[in-house]
Amino acid sequence: MAARIIDGKAIAAEVRERVKAEAAEFAAGAGRPAALATVLVGDDPASQIYIRKKREACEEAGIRSIHHGLEAATSENELLELVGHLGLDSEVDGILVQLPVPEQIDPDRVIAAIDPAKDVDGLTPTNAGRLAQGMPALVSCTPVGVMELLRHEGVELDGAEAVVVGRSKLVGVPVARLLLAANATVTVCHSRTRDLASVCRRAEVLVAAVGVPRLLGADAVRPGAVVIDVGVNRTADGLQGDVDFEAVSELAAAITPVPGGVGPMTIAMLLANTLAAARSRL
Ligand code: NAP
Repeated sequence: MAARIIDGKAIAAEVRERVKAEAAEFAAGAGRPAALATVLVGDDPASQIYIRKKREACEEAGIRSIHHGLEAATSENELLELVGHLGLDSEVDGILVQLPVPEQIDPDRVIAAIDPAKDVDGLTPTNAGRLAQGMPALVSCTPVGVMELLRHEGVELDGAEAVVVGRSKLVGVPVARLLLAANATVTVCHSRTRDLASVCRRAEVLVAAVGVPRLLGADAVRPGAVVIDVGVNRTADGLQGDVDFEAVSELAAAITPVPGGVGPMTIAMLLANTLAAARSRL
């Protein structure tokens, strides 16, 4: 195997240690800990696990976790009211509404109601627009985590050919915007892209955020590329990324594993975003 394995777990642990120290400084200065409010509507088991992990990570970092668990039958208005109330609460620095929400609720309306200064998922139109215009913004955690991995690995982005596969609001588009801001030449691919493999082969930095197990094989990777696999796909063979790890690690320079690559970075960057939101509200 030629590629260096990018150890997201270890890099996330470093970020979490850093946030923990800075959260203690914040608490000493502000007279209260930074606080993240999480909201979960319904009892989807996967969402419950995600929320539990986020809450545990907060406690470990010295960030107060305030959780609101709402019944699956909660109306959109009730949720909007809670989100509005959290926006006004001076002791709440970050607001995270766990998606997906039940079908009677329009997620876009709920997200738009989050105070942009507390939008630690970076999903409000205000933060997405600020990012698009190159202004300071809270940016969603997974894309910031991808950039932190690249920074940690010392990957030169200035002038580099970067290809992002996926154009979601949560991952693909913000990753592409962050790479562009770092002066990479960025191509964004999606389900209508013709000859995906040949476009991907241009990439010195390839980011896969698709949700199709092992979509990108050796034919989609330029020898010596850095490959970041955001995909998390549950298959009969266990968790799989969007990249064929065995084949691609023969020719890439560096690659993230699944699990243990991008995943751990997402929670670490949520903590970092919450602290950043808390500081900017001082
Ligand atoms: P999403 O909203 O479903 O977006 C998927 C994107 O992939 C879309 O832009 C879609 O194109 C594109 N796509 C689908 N099939 C394709 C194909 N055959 N060829 C090329 N492009 C294709 O998903 P997401 O929320 O961005 O998540 C992507 C993956 O990342 C998922 O596996 C998810 O579980 C994972 N994820 C991981 C983390 C983490 O912390 N590790 C966080 C978030 C997401 P169209 O726009 O044309 O439909």
